[in-house]
Amino acid sequence: MARHLITSAIPYINGIKHLGNLVGSQLPADLFARYQRGRGHEVLFLCATDEHGTPAELAAAKAGQPVAEYCAEMHEVQAKIAQGFRLSFDHFGRSSSPQNQKLTQHFAGVLADRGLIREVSETQMYSPTDGRYLPDRYIEGTCPNCGFESARGDQCDNCTKQLDPVDLINPHSTISGATDLEMRETKHLYLRQSTMKDELEKWIDTREGWPVLTTSIAKKWLNDGDGLQDRGITRDLDWGVPVKKGDEDWPGMEGKVFYVWFDAPIEYIACAQEWVDAGKGDDWSRWWRTDAGAEDVTYTQFMGKDNVPFHTLSFPATILGSGEPWKLVDYIKSFNYLNYEGGQFSTSRGRGVFMDQALEVLPSDYWRWWLLSHAPESSDAEFTWENFQASVNKDLADVLGNFVSRVTKFCRSKFGEEVPAGGTYGPAEEALIAELTERLAAYQGHMDAIEVRKAAAELRAIWAAGNEYLQSAAPWAAFKEDPDRAAAIVRLSLNLIRLYAVLSAPFIPDTSEVLKEALKLDNLDWPDDLPEALNALAPGAAFTVPENLFRKIADEEREDWQTRFSGTRG
Ligand SMILES: [Zn+2]
Repeated sequence: MARHLITSAIPYINGIKHLGNLVGSQLPADLFARYQRGRGHEVLFLCATDEHGTPAELAAAKAGQPVAEYCAEMHEVQAKIAQGFRLSFDHFGRSSSPQNQKLTQHFAGVLADRGLIREVSETQMYSPTDGRYLPDRYIEGTCPNCGFESARGDQCDNCTKQLDPVDLINPHSTISGATDLEMRETKHLYLRQSTMKDELEKWIDTREGWPVLTTSIAKKWLNDGDGLQDRGITRDLDWGVPVKKGDEDWPGMEGKVFYVWFDAPIEYIACAQEWVDAGKGDDWSRWWRTDAGAEDVTYTQFMGKDNVPFHTLSFPATILGSGEPWKLVDYIKSFNYLNYEGGQFSTSRGRGVFMDQALEVLPSDYWRWWLLSHAPESSDAEFTWENFQASVNKDLADVLGNFVSRVTKFCRSKFGEEVPAGGTYGPAEEALIAELTERLAAYQGHMDAIEVRKAAAELRAIWAAGNEYLQSAAPWAAFKEDPDRAAAIVRLSLNLIRLYAVLSAPFIPDTSEVLKEALKLDNLDWPDDLPEALNALAPGAAFTVPENLFRKIADEEREDWQTRFSGTRG
């Protein structure tokens, strides 16, 4: 039995994510976790909400709530939607947890002890009225370039010019409207990543089988221009992990917090501690400490391509820099972007389908199947309602749903609700078993390699092979001449349904559960031996005819949804 640690990039707290976010990390991570569990391996699958930073403060202010309260509420909302999509996290944690606070402070202390942190003096805009330093986004003024009156401190939304807050004419605080802003000196901590360049490069060179997309992004950051830069890891904010050196105060750093990008990946570890503290597990260290058993763990991370630099460089810099025996990532699976109907998903304009809306429209398996079978792996992918409708109606309703319906209903009408005895498997059955043996090996190969689209295509082919067999074996015709022959065909077909329930579970878990109940199965254990698996349901085994598994999407519905999701979500 192998041991798999699996993490999905942690979604930011400020709102409900769209389907492009879902397929970029959480959903394929869930597919892999379900598959590895199905194969009988030990899995720890973790995700969390990323809760610190200015955008959380801004979103809370907009909602008229204290930021801690806002984050607690939004965490519950995201957790509920994740359950709706059947994301099978062993724990869904929070980067604002006490565990992460302590661990983040611990890493900072150890890095400082090892000479990897330096203090830097900078000037930053201070608002005496608000009693705080203002992040760039909290400052607005007139753009010096185009005269737009509501330009932000980092960028003008009218002419897109990148700005510094000092460039603005008549700058004011967006919190209080105060105009008496002044530049003040403030101190920050920098992680000396530049001194770790060689160690990081050496480590990346030892990673086997990493996709070129991943290593080339990392190498670019390591070597382009002046090479890897030191990174500020603190901010003048209220909301975040207070800057401390381990358990001790950090002189000169009072009132400051760690930058969200420093503490967020550490939450991958803290989340395992939360999992234990929640009573769901009893030892996190055997997953994360190589001196406590994590040496034989395979650690796989899932993320969108924009997150690759932080996971190949920043987080490993924290871990390697600590000199402590923490588990490092073995494989990074990164994704391109999913576009929406000829443009982009847009959270601000409400364009596209968001996770909560998707579940209002159709059950999660419909979405899981389409998203995974069209995952943006080698290039960007595009969601269109036409494609979604075609894929659901064909793959799910016509191929899988129709097969299950025809076999179970035919059996009920001719033999009753139990697996019929009589007849033996002949050449047609042997040919099908040979084909499926090959296809199963290919399916497993793609799943092991996390080739999501290829795995989906193989699963679809496994469903289709059953349909083709049923069509050509034609038990309804055979029944008139030779009922035993019909019985053998139906017996194999019922066993195929059992096989589909098992193999499809990582993609469409709810449907697999329906089939499991209909066939009264004890488990969905993965088949070691395909011919044996196709004899598992013995003559006399009872079943019930399940409800229609999938409904087809009509043209009028599709057109309604196209209009409804074209923009301006309320
Ligand atoms: Zn401008």
